[in-house]
Amino acid sequence: MISVEQALEKILAHVEVLEGEQSPILGCLGQVLVEDVYSSIDVPPLDNAAMDGYALRSRDTRGASRQSPRFLRVIGMVAAGSISERALEPGTAIRIMTGAPIPKGADSVVRFEDTDEVLRRGSSIGQQLPAEIGIFCDAEAGLNIRRAGEDITKGSIVLTKGVVIRPSEVGVLASLGRSTVMVIRRPVVAILATGDELVDINQPLPLGKIYDSNTYSVAALVMRYGGIPRILGIALDSEDSVVARLHQGLDADMLITTGGVSAGDYDVVKDVLVKQGKIAFWSVRMKPGKPLAFGTIRGVSKAGIARNIPHLGLPGNPVSSMITFELFVRPAILKMMGKKNLAKPTIEAVIEDPIVNNDGRRILARAVVEKRGSQYFARLTGPQGSGILTSMTLANGLVIIPEDKERVKAGDVVQIMMLDWSEE
Ligand code: AMP
Ligand code: MG
Repeated sequence: MISVEQALEKILAHVEVLEGEQSPILGCLGQVLVEDVYSSIDVPPLDNAAMDGYALRSRDTRGASRQSPRFLRVIGMVAAGSISERALEPGTAIRIMTGAPIPKGADSVVRFEDTDEVLRRGSSIGQQLPAEIGIFCDAEAGLNIRRAGEDITKGSIVLTKGVVIRPSEVGVLASLGRSTVMVIRRPVVAILATGDELVDINQPLPLGKIYDSNTYSVAALVMRYGGIPRILGIALDSEDSVVARLHQGLDADMLITTGGVSAGDYDVVKDVLVKQGKIAFWSVRMKPGKPLAFGTIRGVSKAGIARNIPHLGLPGNPVSSMITFELFVRPAILKMMGKKNLAKPTIEAVIEDPIVNNDGRRILARAVVEKRGSQYFARLTGPQGSGILTSMTLANGLVIIPEDKERVKAGDVVQIMMLDWSEE
């Protein structure tokens, strides 16, 4: 039996970074940029006001103070989104709102609080403008002015190839007027559940059957890590049935089956992998998740080109399929998406329950991890049976017990692979 690391290495060796595609900016959160993004404009495009106030010539305010204001004639007003048609002459000011372009002749904006604006409400030209305004401060040139290009200068590189798109990158792209961008495309992951006992959630549940939950937990995981799930449905425990369904997914970037890999009478997935492709391994030294098969299946791309598609045969047990997904499918999806950091975050925590490891496998135990003071503590979620899927809803981390560690005592420090951080 191979180790978790060896298994991951083999899987990643068969997985390639996908090609780029033009994508709407809101569709590419979490995707990797494959172009250097340059700006064709200055952002902001023009010098503009950082405050609501009066645009003026700083020279006209020399020596001004609250006790001896300088009075300027108000010749107009300019709001964000418009351009003042008036230029400032000596002794004049233009009322200006935040974001409005600075009128010609002005080199400074004095905010309302530093003027006698409040005293003048009511005594207005038209509705809004006072005839003159008293300025209380000696303004230096450039006061409260945001310079054209101060955020982004025209022609400069704004985002570089390899960056992962987050909300801030989406915002920056929008500020350049970009509606689409080149990113590595999302992998399409075909998902097939196997088992005579399975029924789809849209059907009534006959006696002796169970609902297929793996399709949905796996599809949700695919989505969480940025892939596109393609649900192939449920195959019976026969080679023909599995092959027929799998054929619907041969243009996907990855195939995932669940079930049919344990050493029972119906471990058909292994046979299918052997006959339809190449099997690389079929068990891993871990618990849960030992019956994990991996290989490649011959398929065709959308463009009709023959290729080998990585196929992960996850165990049928609902907990095992989720945990093996986190360990093996997640990094494969991230690699296909061009990500560099494939490891799930791990932390050290004090374990509050003892764990016994008597068969030399790596244990991944479901745990509730919490921070008290500056230290993390972890307790088990309860019974660790691989069929107890609700334990995954309680867990936010997996305690990792090494293969050669026979006993962990309460109070020992252990490694935890975090499944969720509370802020997620
Ligand atoms: P298998 O690996 O096919 O032997 O399945 C192991 C256990 O997981 C059995 O109890 C199955 O009934 C259960 N199981 C397999 N596939 C699913 C599924 N898609 N949804 C829920 N339980 C499943
Ligand atoms: Mg089965």
